Amino acid sequence: MPELPELDVMQEVLTDRIIGRTIAAVNTFHPGILKTVEPGLDSLVGKSITAISRRGKHLIFTVSDDLHLVVHLMLAGRLVSCQSNTKATKATGCLITFEDGEDLRIIENTTIRRVRVHVVRSPSDVEAIANAGVEPLSSDFTIDYLSQHVLGRKRQLKKLLTDQTIIVGIGTAYADEILFDAKLSPIRYGTTLYEEEVHRLHESIQSVLRWATDEIRAEAGGATLTPHERPFARIYKKTEQPCPDCGTKIAEIRYAQTQTYYCPNCQSQGKSIRDRRAWLTR
Ligand SMILES: [Zn+2]
Repeated sequence: MPELPELDVMQEVLTDRIIGRTIAAVNTFHPGILKTVEPGLDSLVGKSITAISRRGKHLIFTVSDDLHLVVHLMLAGRLVSCQSNTKATKATGCLITFEDGEDLRIIENTTIRRVRVHVVRSPSDVEAIANAGVEPLSSDFTIDYLSQHVLGRKRQLKKLLTDQTIIVGIGTAYADEILFDAKLSPIRYGTTLYEEEVHRLHESIQSVLRWATDEIRAEAGGATLTPHERPFARIYKKTEQPCPDCGTKIAEIRYAQTQTYYCPNCQSQGKSIRDRRAWLTR
């Protein structure tokens, strides 16, 4: 799933490519992909995209102050730009055609489709945006804010970091990288953190997201919209590989659909996290 760093680079690439271009047609093909009825897709036709922004894991294509196309790519959605005469495959969920003969397509090549498209008068008409937590790279994301949420309710750190109503834009990949950077266990309860550890977590959230965005931007070079590979990751999907800090083999916890990667030495006092049922409990 694209997270804040990937989405910020996509937003930059899209801004360079499609601002000012006029929409000739918008069509959806996957049943249920369009989550809104009014305003209709046709309301976008003949208008130009004036801005592209990101809120949480949503990309917002603005055509006027009171009309926006909002996209959530979920787990497997990708954006592809191509000539309009290129044949659309079954994986194409939504197709935005510009007057100059190019398309922006939303592709989802999976059996269960989760991508969401909304046409709204205001981005906050999308419930997940209305309920979104703070942007972790904004000035609203203070140590006090994090402290309140960490200490306010008993919950495990990975669940806390990926809760979009508290902090937006962090999914399972960067939550693992952040907790590794902060040398904290993913299943530790926030309520047990010392003040110094909350400071460290705050610092790691911002530094890991900035570092990852720089890496992706350098890798993408303006060329690709959806760089899903993360070759720069230090522990994400690195099971059995040596920890970059101590050489211990990176371990993995699997529970339901979720994988968590961690260093048993750096993050768990040398112990493996054995009780998988403990994971995802509240
Ligand atoms: Zn280690």
